[in-house]
Amino acid sequence: MEVFKKGSNVFKILSEAISEGIVIVNKSQTIVATNMAANALFGYSEEELKGQHLDILIPKKYHNNHHKHVSGFLKKSDKRQMGHGRDLYGRRKDGSQFPVEAGLNPFTVYDQDYVMALVIDISVRKKAEQELKHWASIFNESLNEIFIFDARTLLFLDVNKGAKKNIGYTIEELHKMTPVDIKPEFNKEQFLKKISPLLEGREEKLKFNSIHQRKDGSTYPVEIHLQKSVHENSETLVAIILDITEQEEYTQKLENTVAKRTRQLEEALTKEKELGELKTKFLSLVSHEFKTPLSGILTSATLAGKYEKEEQQDKREKHLKTIQGKVKYLNNIINDFLSIERLESGKVNYKYSNFPLSKVINEVIYDANMLLKEAQNIEYPENIDAVFLDFDEKILELVLTNLINNAIKYSSEDSTIYLTANEKNNRLTITVSDEGIGIPEAEQKYVFNRYFRAENALLNQGTGIGLNIVKTHLENLGGSITFTSVENKGTTFTVEIPMKTT
Ligand code: ADP
Repeated sequence: MEVFKKGSNVFKILSEAISEGIVIVNKSQTIVATNMAANALFGYSEEELKGQHLDILIPKKYHNNHHKHVSGFLKKSDKRQMGHGRDLYGRRKDGSQFPVEAGLNPFTVYDQDYVMALVIDISVRKKAEQELKHWASIFNESLNEIFIFDARTLLFLDVNKGAKKNIGYTIEELHKMTPVDIKPEFNKEQFLKKISPLLEGREEKLKFNSIHQRKDGSTYPVEIHLQKSVHENSETLVAIILDITEQEEYTQKLENTVAKRTRQLEEALTKEKELGELKTKFLSLVSHEFKTPLSGILTSATLAGKYEKEEQQDKREKHLKTIQGKVKYLNNIINDFLSIERLESGKVNYKYSNFPLSKVINEVIYDANMLLKEAQNIEYPENIDAVFLDFDEKILELVLTNLINNAIKYSSEDSTIYLTANEKNNRLTITVSDEGIGIPEAEQKYVFNRYFRAENALLNQGTGIGLNIVKTHLENLGGSITFTSVENKGTTFTVEIPMKTT
């Protein structure tokens, strides 16, 4: 330390007293003095550094740049902080690098110019800065929305990228706004009340659902997590917002599905119940409706068995006809019941085929003949061989059997039943008329209800099922059925069906 001889003691004392490293270089950047702090910082002894070029303390890759800066600095020769706008690094004896901050102080002793560099190791600060940056980027990049607002004024202080993006306001606009401005469900008073547990320190965290309104006016459901944070004497509230639109949609979907399934279950249960009732009804009907014809069949069969002689052939045939008629009747009841069961459980499969109308009419009339009362007769069209239908043959047969059997059943001996068939615009109209008891006007509106039986029909056997299923089948197949009736005069049923499947 020759050059500082005169004041060397003072310099020594002063330089060792401060914690920053001191490195003094001359004009040609040769180190002329260092203090203990600098030696410790760079891992050298003072002797090892003295006389060395300053480059020894600087990582190689910065040498070139550094030389330029030093000569520039020496020209201007004013006091300043080094490294504006860039990071400075020092190099230890062991080759490791560390971030530094350096303050440069030029001075002149005995006409010689020197520069004193005050060097501080800023590794710790740099690390802290980096950590802070990291936290800031976590804050900013978080996919959730984060809003920070003043606990007193409620004004927004900062929001992250996610929040800005979803809510649609700029940070400048948000600085003039409070959470109340984006929550249509709250006014200021209500909001303050909501967050009072936090403000008063009764709760550490609040979680609640609300609605946020974007700048464009649209809204979205949110889950809000709110916490208080104290920063340099000012209290702020940090809100982490989860957009729960999808969650809500999912919940809604789930609720809809549950509602739908419940409805289906209820429908199935009702159907099940109806089918159960049907079974009970069937059993009671069978016991009533089957008994009479069955005992009739038994009587006729017994009697027929007794007429053994040739001349008794007539009587035997009469009884056999009665048996056939009653068996047909029972068969029809069973068919009607099976129809209901199929219609109820959705198991009906209609079978379309092409057939002549005359075929069905002949079969129905043939069977009906067995049921005719004394001197009853049926008039039906005979010149219909050319009429062909695309329809469900079995259903048409069921419809006509029901109507004709009713006409026979509900009219007296010695009366006529008329069947007509007319074709128009690809639709076939069939009427079945009788001169019977008719349907009382007051009851006409119930005729197609299941199990309905009119007051004046109760002496006759019946189930009240036939017309109900006839109507259902016809409507399923694009047809219709109507009637007109006058009590004690007669009834006409009119059926209309499409002749071709289109
Ligand atoms: P069922 O004849 O087995 O009682 P339907 O469903 O065929 O059942 O008929 C329902 C009711 O409509 C009958 O009970 C009867 O009161 C009335 N009805 C049906 N057809 C006629 C008809 N041709 N004349 C008078 N009443 C009828």
